[in-house]
Amino acid sequence: MSAAEILKTYFGYDSFRNGQEEIVQSILAGKDALAIMPTGAGKSICYQVPALMLPGITIVVSPLISLMQDQVKALNEAGIHAAFINSSLTETQIAKAMRLAAEGRYKIIYVAPERLESAGFVQFAQNGRISMITVDEAHCISQWGQDFRPSYLKIVAFIDSLADRPIVSAFTATATKEVRTDIECTLKLHDPQVVVTGFDRQNLYYSVEHIAGKHKDAFVLDYIRKHADESGIIYCATRKNVDNLYEKLSQNGILAARYHAGLDNDTRKKNQDDFIYDRVQIVIATNAFGMGIDKSNVRFVIHYNMPQSMENYYQEAGRAGRDGENAQCILLFSVQDVMINRFLLEKKEFEGMDADDIALVRQRDTQRLRVMEGYCKATTCLRNYILEYFGEKASTPCDNCGNCHREYTEQDMTADAKWVVNCIAEMRGRYGLNIVLGTLLGANRARLKEIGADAYKSYGILKQRSEADLRLLIDQMLAEGYIVQTGGEYSVLQMGDISRLKEKGARVVVRKAQEREEPAGRTRKKKTDSLTGAGFDLFDRLRQLRLTIAKEEAMPPYIIFSDKTLIDMCAKAPRNQTEMLAVSGVGENKYQKYGERFIQEIGAFLAENPNAVVSTQIDE
Ligand code: ADP
Ligand code: ZN
Repeated sequence: MSAAEILKTYFGYDSFRNGQEEIVQSILAGKDALAIMPTGAGKSICYQVPALMLPGITIVVSPLISLMQDQVKALNEAGIHAAFINSSLTETQIAKAMRLAAEGRYKIIYVAPERLESAGFVQFAQNGRISMITVDEAHCISQWGQDFRPSYLKIVAFIDSLADRPIVSAFTATATKEVRTDIECTLKLHDPQVVVTGFDRQNLYYSVEHIAGKHKDAFVLDYIRKHADESGIIYCATRKNVDNLYEKLSQNGILAARYHAGLDNDTRKKNQDDFIYDRVQIVIATNAFGMGIDKSNVRFVIHYNMPQSMENYYQEAGRAGRDGENAQCILLFSVQDVMINRFLLEKKEFEGMDADDIALVRQRDTQRLRVMEGYCKATTCLRNYILEYFGEKASTPCDNCGNCHREYTEQDMTADAKWVVNCIAEMRGRYGLNIVLGTLLGANRARLKEIGADAYKSYGILKQRSEADLRLLIDQMLAEGYIVQTGGEYSVLQMGDISRLKEKGARVVVRKAQEREEPAGRTRKKKTDSLTGAGFDLFDRLRQLRLTIAKEEAMPPYIIFSDKTLIDMCAKAPRNQTEMLAVSGVGENKYQKYGERFIQEIGAFLAENPNAVVSTQIDE
């Protein structure tokens, strides 16, 4: 079989994606390969397809147990003999797997890097026929990266111990220039074919919402209600935020799972599984969640707080839309987030590092935070901001992010800013935001009279302004440090560093966002756009069937079929084997296992809804 035939027969896909074929062909020509492709680009296919065509076994080194298990399940579902050997197995299970491997029962074997040091495994590899070593998450080999795994350094010695050097292929989603060179050198790749497909993930819609802390819950609630039925992750900066939001959602009747380091292992595992197996749609988590989560149908990732770096943000937000369908990445930003992050960095401990290094790391952290803050405050294309940061040339604005769909007007509010300062001075920093606003606007409130605010010079001085404008102004002044807001239960506004405000030429500029009406036809086409109301009903039925099967097989639903495949099934409404095999993501083996049940379900639906039009052609 040719590579294209393998792709169709086992994986059910009609064509390779950008970059895949180049890697596959160069591996088949016996060349080493290094592929840097973003999450969801389809790295696994790049080594799985050639693995099936090479004469011997492919050993895949992977850092995470959960990833290996997922991959092996997916391969077995596709009818490919694969296994993993790692510490989640008992000694007896390992012995059995090794015996079967030695008998040549597996084409692909996943191992943790530590396994390469075990005498038994080395012996197996020396006696068996190993065609390729694939290093997944190859950036783990670099000391530059955040995920350095010392055991990755042993891979080379293992390769050297084999009499015939196998082909070596390495894959990663994150590689700055340093890391890339590190991978090439440390792994001793021989003149590798290097393929870099770029960072951009066109199916992700980025947006930043400026929302004061206490209004964030309302935003999340509203969003979830409007996106019922969609799977999503909500990242919070702290455990406490996770717990609070979890409470809030429960009170409002929304089922969610939560995940943070304060929960015991079993609870964490259970909550994670609930999410992966689609038993709950929403997970609220700290950044401890997500390593090794391969769930493909995550439709949104909301950041309740600003993360500490763009690297973190891109990785976490990138868990959305792995299936290539549209997904949203929303960051809820408030000025407090910056202050909290600064505080966390100050508090960060550096054990066993010398003073110079500490200074360097601090500097780097501060710089990263600044970049992240820049993203939150950017008024131009967010996608381009990200791409430029990761060293890619960005071209025209993407027309697929919050800022591209928004217009900003700038307003010079320097004079108003000085009155805010005066007002806080008159109050001697004893009152909070609402009192300050009320005073400046000259509100007729009993509370203001009670404290004598109506006698202030600043009382009513800005009454021609709207409250919303003044809120924006105060946000801006907080961000620039002219005033500060104390934490705690009763938070008050106090004077910050106003020296710069007194300088000549000082300006306080407030940017106001205006949502632009979407001109018809401008938004990106979604796969589901072609589905009619009846089409969505059918999609729901197919999802139900998938869930039933997933339970029977004790398998995550997305391993049975991805959302994308189900949508294609709705659009094509296959009635027989040939038509079913034409659906993207339906290979021979999956057809044998599940094809008929889906054909029946579709048939039943069409019989019950004889006049239903499930899908209409839309222009791509
Ligand atoms: P990565 O490891 O790069 O994050 P995956 O290997 O998990 O990405 O692939 C992401 C998704 O894309 C999977 O659902 C996979 O089945 C799908 N996919 C990969 N290659 C193709 C292709 N050629 N055509 C259609 N879908 C593909
Ligand atoms: Zn944009």
